[in-house]
Amino acid sequence: MSTTIGPKILAARTVGSLARRAGRGGGTSLPGRLLIKLEPHAIAILARRLSMGSVLISATNGKTTTAAMAASILERAGISLVHNRAGANMAGGVASTLLSAARRGGQIDGQLGLFEVDEFWLDRVAPELEPRAMLLANLFRDQLDRYGELETIADRWAAAVAARGEATALVLNADDPLIADLGRDAARVSYFGVEDPAVAIAQMQHASDSKHCRRCGAAYRYDLIYLGHLGVYTCPSCGQTRPQPTISAQKITLQGTRGSRFTLTTPEHSIEIELPLPGLYNVYNALGAAALCLELGAGIEHVADGLRGVTAAFGRAEIVTIGDRLLSLLLIKNPAGANEIIRTLALEDAELDLLAVLNDRTADGHDVSWIWDADFELLAPRVRSAVCSGTRAAELALRLKYAGVEASRLRVQADLPAALDAALSGLEGERRQLYALPTYTAMLELREELGRRGHVKSFWQDRSPAPR
Ligand SMILES: [Zn+2]
Repeated sequence: MSTTIGPKILAARTVGSLARRAGRGGGTSLPGRLLIKLEPHAIAILARRLSMGSVLISATNGKTTTAAMAASILERAGISLVHNRAGANMAGGVASTLLSAARRGGQIDGQLGLFEVDEFWLDRVAPELEPRAMLLANLFRDQLDRYGELETIADRWAAAVAARGEATALVLNADDPLIADLGRDAARVSYFGVEDPAVAIAQMQHASDSKHCRRCGAAYRYDLIYLGHLGVYTCPSCGQTRPQPTISAQKITLQGTRGSRFTLTTPEHSIEIELPLPGLYNVYNALGAAALCLELGAGIEHVADGLRGVTAAFGRAEIVTIGDRLLSLLLIKNPAGANEIIRTLALEDAELDLLAVLNDRTADGHDVSWIWDADFELLAPRVRSAVCSGTRAAELALRLKYAGVEASRLRVQADLPAALDAALSGLEGERRQLYALPTYTAMLELREELGRRGHVKSFWQDRSPAPR
C-alpha cells in the first residue's frame, strides 16, 4: 500500500497549500480530510512509519494541555514527536499532522506519534493509529446538542478499549468513575489520581455529571470530591470502587492563577513538581501526562523538568502582555471546565476584572443553558467589573446578575473589539490584570483581535505550521 500513497500525499498537500494561499478556511485538517478521501486508511499507513509507534490522549477537558505537557516531557527524554499541536483532533487533523511529517521513500520525520483525539472520534481513530498506549482522562458533559449523552460516549470508549485488547496499555483516571470502569477487564492498565483530602470540596457542584454507577445504575457514595464528579467513590449496590492510583498527586498547594505545587508519587519515586499552570484541573492534566510518559519509559527527572517547563496551550491559561497590563485567557466551554476556572480565580487575593464572552456558534454549542450549571456564585463576591460580550452577551450578564454580581459592576457590549477596549480601560489599581473567559469561538476571535493589535502572533502564524 505504501507504494501507492505517494501521489495521494502530493495531491493532498497541493490542495492544502492552494487553499491556504487563497485564504480559504478549513483549517489544518483540510489536507488530511482530502487524503482520507483518497486513501481511507491513510492514518494507519503513515502511522506505521513511526519507529516508536503512537500514543493517543482523549478527554472532554484538558486534552490539548495534557498533550502539551506530555510533549514537553518526551522532548526532554530525547524523543522526536509527530504531534497535532494545533488541536486539530478529529481524523482529518490527525491525518494532516502525519501528512506534514511524511517524507519520501516511506520515511517520516519523527519517532513517536502523540495525538490528542476528540472524544467522539476515539473509536474511529484508535483502530487506525493502533496506539501502544491510550490516556483516557475524563468525561464531562460537553455541549449536549453536539454530543449527546455521556453514557453513549462511555460505551463507545469501552468498545474501542476492548477492541485494542493487550496491544494497548491503558492510562486511566482513577477518580473519574466512568473512566476507571474502562479498566475493569483490561490486561494492561495503570491508574492516576489525586490523594489529598485537603483540596477536596465540601459538596457536589451543580455541574457534576456522573453520579450513577455505570455497572448497576445506583448512585455513587462519595467520600471525597475533588472536581466535578472526580473523587473517591464507591457504589453501595454493586461495590464498584475507585481503584487505588499508582501515580498520584499529594500535598497539593494551589497558588491561584500562577500555578501549583505538589508531590508526584509513583511506585518508585516521590518528587516535588512545580507546575506553572493554575488549578486542580491542571494537576490532573499533569498527572495524566506523567502517568503516560512513565508508561512509555520516561525518567522521573524528565517528568519533573517537562512539567516545570510546560507553557500554556493555545488559549488555556495563556497570558498576554498589553503595555503595562496583563490579559489572562481562560477558555470556558462547559460547566465542569468553567467551574475549575472559577475555583482557580476565587483563589486570587485581589478583586477581579473580567471580560466574559459567550458565543453560541456551532463549535461552542447552540444551547448555552450550561452557564446556569456553572458556579458563578463563587466568583460573584470577587468581581470588581465584568464586561459581557459575544453573541449571547445579555444572557451571560443575566447569569452573573443572578449569581450576585451587582448590576453597577456589569456591562454588556456584544461587539468584541469594543468590549475588549471597555474592559482594558476599566482596569485600576496596582495589579492591572484582566481575566478573559471566552467560549471556544470567542477565544479564537479574541486572539485574532489581539493579533490585529500586535499583541500576539496572528492566528495562522500560531496555529498552522507552514507546509513542508
Ligand atoms: Zn454499582
